[in-house]
Amino acid sequence: MGITIEKFLEILEKEVENYQVPVVDLIAVQTKDPFKVLVATILSARTRDEVTAKSSERLFARAGTVEELAELDEETLQKIIYPVGFYKNKARYLAALPEKLISEYNSTVPSSMRGLLALPGVGRKTANLVMAQAFGIPAICVDTHVHRIMNIWGYVTTKTPEQTEMALRKSLPERYWIPVNSILVAFGQGTCKPVGPRCDRCVLSESCPKIGVTQGKSKMNMNSRQQGVQRLVSWNVNGLRAVFKKGFVELVKEMNPDVLGLQEIKAMPEQLPDSLLNMNAYHGYFHSALRKGYSGVATYSKVQAQNVIRGIGDSRFDDEGRVLTLEFETYFFVNCYFPNSKGDLSRLDYKHDFNVLLQQFAEGLAVEKSVIVCGDFNVAHKEIDLANPAQNRKNAGFTPEECAWMDSFMEAGWIDSFRMKNKESGQYSWWSYRSRARERNIGWRIDYHGVDRKSRERIVDADIYQHIHGSDHCPVVLDFLG
Ligand code: SF4
Repeated sequence: MGITIEKFLEILEKEVENYQVPVVDLIAVQTKDPFKVLVATILSARTRDEVTAKSSERLFARAGTVEELAELDEETLQKIIYPVGFYKNKARYLAALPEKLISEYNSTVPSSMRGLLALPGVGRKTANLVMAQAFGIPAICVDTHVHRIMNIWGYVTTKTPEQTEMALRKSLPERYWIPVNSILVAFGQGTCKPVGPRCDRCVLSESCPKIGVTQGKSKMNMNSRQQGVQRLVSWNVNGLRAVFKKGFVELVKEMNPDVLGLQEIKAMPEQLPDSLLNMNAYHGYFHSALRKGYSGVATYSKVQAQNVIRGIGDSRFDDEGRVLTLEFETYFFVNCYFPNSKGDLSRLDYKHDFNVLLQQFAEGLAVEKSVIVCGDFNVAHKEIDLANPAQNRKNAGFTPEECAWMDSFMEAGWIDSFRMKNKESGQYSWWSYRSRARERNIGWRIDYHGVDRKSRERIVDADIYQHIHGSDHCPVVLDFLG
């Protein structure tokens, strides 16, 4: 079913009237100054609008003209524009910009594509945005939102923003060339978000083909829960810094967990931005691997932990940052990143040793109070837990040895809280990045909340947030009577 592009854009034009205006549009309207539009556009790449707005304001207070910008050296520029993404590169471009503008364009900004592309730090996206916003020239600025949403609608089938621009130039009615960017950036930031698009409240929901958007809206209300119930979320983020750039902080606000266990953070605390080290309303705890960019776990909690245990007392595993335990008043939250046995199964024995030790550790804690062992277990337990069990019998994550350990873990009394509440097939928490596996829901359920047997009555509900993107895993959720 094809969509009617005019209809969609007409609906959205009205819809976004009350949304936050994208920062570059705002600067264009407020200043009508091509120089400021150009500079703000350079700053805005890979940067949230709030950050771009503040950095632009600081910079324009010091350099509102080309000549004033020429007075600032690269180091000073870095300090002024920090923390925009890639601030060092951007400072270098801004430092080189005045010479070109002064010598070749008499201190003005060129309005042609060719002239703009010759400036430092300017690519097609920036050039199109400056032409459209600063000079009102019909140009289609295709950023990540325009590219993504046009593909979700099936209006284009392209792999890169450049391909999308070329396809739109052929098919998009010219009256939308300039406004399409503002409309879809506002809509992409407010509703059709890259991580967790809000189809449940979208004005286009009935007619949007949602191509590539994983359905499976959570049955849990993300914003409310029964009184006295703690929402415990576990998510293998496959790189905390990577998911941060995809709207992680905003997403945490939406999920609103009481405790959030993250695996595979691939970072040390000193490599994290302040907004992750001190995330609003949360205490952050980290246990990173010694090896940079590898493994590691982190837990955020609204309540300060009474006690923190890093590791399970064996350097083979503790050096890889695999287990972080927080003790709260009535339970232990054990956040684990179980080893992957690897494609050639060379780490099967290592993984087995970890499993045995972790289980002993958790059972020791369970003598004292309730225990939740959560995380990426790197194993699908039963055939129902993966899309192609027969083909994967000998593969890492579904070998007889790994499944046998899961059997023994459950037989020892640990409860798979999701399966206790949900017997449906097709409920997965991980999809390969290959072959459009997520889109086709060819996945595996390998992320769990295991609860000790004495705490069965405290399991209120369990869910998998399949609609949340940002990693090859999605978050899994347990509502637990605190
Ligand atoms: S229905 Fe969902 S995928 Fe489609 S435009 Fe709306 S938010 Fe985006």
